[in-house]
Amino acid sequence: MKVGIIGSGMVGATSAFAIMMRKAASDIVLIDANEKRAIAEAQDIMHAVPFAAATDVYAGNYDDLKDAKIVVIAAGANQKPGETRLDLMEKNAAIMKDIISKTVAVNPNIIFLVATNPVDIITHICVNIAKEFGIPATRIIGSGTTLDTARFRTLLGNLIGVDSQNVHAYVIGEHGDSEVLTWSNIDIGGVQFEDFIEFRKIEFSEKIKEQIDNGVRNAAYKIIGGKGSTYYGIGGAIAKLVDVINRDNRAVLTISTFMEDVEGVKNVTLSLPHIIGGEGDLGVLPISLNAKEKMLLKKSAEIIRSKIDEFENKI
Ligand code: NAD
Repeated sequence: MKVGIIGSGMVGATSAFAIMMRKAASDIVLIDANEKRAIAEAQDIMHAVPFAAATDVYAGNYDDLKDAKIVVIAAGANQKPGETRLDLMEKNAAIMKDIISKTVAVNPNIIFLVATNPVDIITHICVNIAKEFGIPATRIIGSGTTLDTARFRTLLGNLIGVDSQNVHAYVIGEHGDSEVLTWSNIDIGGVQFEDFIEFRKIEFSEKIKEQIDNGVRNAAYKIIGGKGSTYYGIGGAIAKLVDVINRDNRAVLTISTFMEDVEGVKNVTLSLPHIIGGEGDLGVLPISLNAKEKMLLKKSAEIIRSKIDEFENKI
């Protein structure tokens, strides 16, 4: 149960900490272009091991991925002054190529978990790079809207006074502004949302719905405004994904994967609920959506596809 983490900045290191606290791996190796950072983060996390779970946490290099099951990609360049979004994308695509080729050279069977933003586009790029090495798309998993889904479930749980783990609700589409909250299929312990709020006499209105929508859609902006970046939520999501894959748990999570067709939009990478297990993505679920949600999902898919086109036309 060894996991590699490439990019041990805030997201990579927090993911490592969450994986260790969750007992989701026996070994965690941190790899970073900044070796000193990887060593420092590994040592800091290692010092929490006596309070949590026996885990070997260390800084290493690609050779250490030989016997790893999963590698988390949380590496990324930051936008420099004067650099466009597309320049940054090109730079990050080159980083992904470097990471994937070096990883596959030592371990062609590894599962890639991608967190680097914009995660849908970066995952799409990774799928294409991995294809050149014969790696199937089922082993390239973007964290996608796992985090947004968690945010939605948290706010719904708070509203109705139920543990968010018993609230089933999804955010699908882009991990970003066009994401879609699927209000039509919320289920609390097998009870439909409308029936639940009526039965429990929970106050609900369009205004509350809007507040929750905003709370989910704009969460990252708010957090970044307050402290510069987000990392605990995504660290928790990555740790869950690692746990599910390492234990072949077959959990349902809204990961970002390559799809041949979403609402008529071809060859696009976005989030839908999937079953995740020891082999990676075990398949998408046929989520039922109302007409408005279908339209919004199509729009979200078109936005992602146009960003991919923009990138592909530049290179
Ligand atoms: P950070 O700047 O703290 O860390 C990035 C790390 O990547 C740095 O330590 C850097 O040295 C390393 N790095 C750069 N190029 C590398 C390479 N070629 N090989 C190895 N390491 C390399 O950034 P962060 O806050 O940890 O964010 C990392 C990424 O995660 C960003 O793209 C961010 O937008 C994204 N993110 C995603 C989500 C999500 O939900 N998917 C949430 C938050 C952040």
